[in-house]
Amino acid sequence: MKKKPAPNHLCVHAGELRDEVYGGATPPIYTSTAYDYRSEGTNLYPRYFNTPNQIALGEKIAALEHTEAGLIFGSGMAAISAVFMAFLKSGDHIIMQRAIYGGTAHFAAAEFHRVGIDYTLLEEITPENLEQAMKPETKMLYVETPSNPLLEITDLEVVSAFAKANSLKTVIDNTFASPINQNPADWGIDIIMHSATKYLGGHSDICAGTVCGSHDDMDRLWKTAKNYGGSLSDHTVWLLDRSIKTLGLRVKEQTKNAGELASWLDGLDCVARVNYPGLPNHKNHEVAKKQMHGYGGMLSFEFNEQVDPDAFLEHLEVIRPALSLAGVESIILSPALTSHSLLTPEQRAEQGISDRLLRFSCGIEEFEVLKTDIENAIEKSKKQ
Ligand SMILES: *Cc1c(COP(=O)(O)O)cnc(C)c1O
Repeated sequence: MKKKPAPNHLCVHAGELRDEVYGGATPPIYTSTAYDYRSEGTNLYPRYFNTPNQIALGEKIAALEHTEAGLIFGSGMAAISAVFMAFLKSGDHIIMQRAIYGGTAHFAAAEFHRVGIDYTLLEEITPENLEQAMKPETKMLYVETPSNPLLEITDLEVVSAFAKANSLKTVIDNTFASPINQNPADWGIDIIMHSATKYLGGHSDICAGTVCGSHDDMDRLWKTAKNYGGSLSDHTVWLLDRSIKTLGLRVKEQTKNAGELASWLDGLDCVARVNYPGLPNHKNHEVAKKQMHGYGGMLSFEFNEQVDPDAFLEHLEVIRPALSLAGVESIILSPALTSHSLLTPEQRAEQGISDRLLRFSCGIEEFEVLKTDIENAIEKSKKQ
């Protein structure tokens, strides 16, 4: 059953923790780490993910992602690692998309072999490639779409059809799309994870993660997650809840900016290539159109020889060169110098990541402001 999408309503009201005492408009913060064990229900304790603020925010995320339940973690990686450890065991095999967040790829490389988990990285998720990668021990299929930094799209219908036919658990990192632009549960994906450090937080001041899915899956996750202890402080849970109230508004503006910037950049003489799933010339445009509500606030592009990219970054005045993404302020970075700096130039070239590539995270500033900033910086960094 498809739920009627009313994302702004859900952002404000889902999982609302009411101030029953004073009738205030905002939720109270329960910071206690010691609760009366004789009271009704389970023992409350922050590391058990069950304080009033944690429970309420879990319900909000679950509602936004059209799932039954959700848990809030201390970071995106705390969420991802708990998912792996909860659903995989020694001897299992997992198929992962190759173009995934660097921290997740590093987790696989550094931790899986230590606990006896085998994995295969797939260049492109197609039924043929999946068939080839399958082993009798395969238990999970892990994808991330849109991908970083080339904004490639994985077809979620293909993922869930293959997984259902082969009894695999499907997990998606939905960070780049946010629940506003993509709801993987509607395509049959089991477990949906976010780095809430990005769009959910949205102001570059919160580090957090979320996971949602069915009651059964979240119960399984909870049993493992409480052992690893990666819960989020109730102060930050409260701040994240406050931030999510404007998620729909922010992401709408960011998506609009990204669409307008992508089209404008694509028409410039000095731009060699623009990667944005909303552009009709993007290789996965049709799949993006099918499975996304909007094409997202992230894009990447390359100047040709006319513009020196380092000088360009120097001359930007509004847009800031910085790590991370998804805040209300526009930021830009070079993947070759940051997220993909540990790869050799050959490995980067193989993945289509040129040293000239720039990744752009659109903020909520007016398009004209961003355009003028980019125009001025281009003018000042043109090679003579
Ligand atoms: C940032 C990020 C993560 C990791 O999240 P943290 O909050 O930094 O732990 C995971 N996936 C994606 C796509 C990200 O951008």
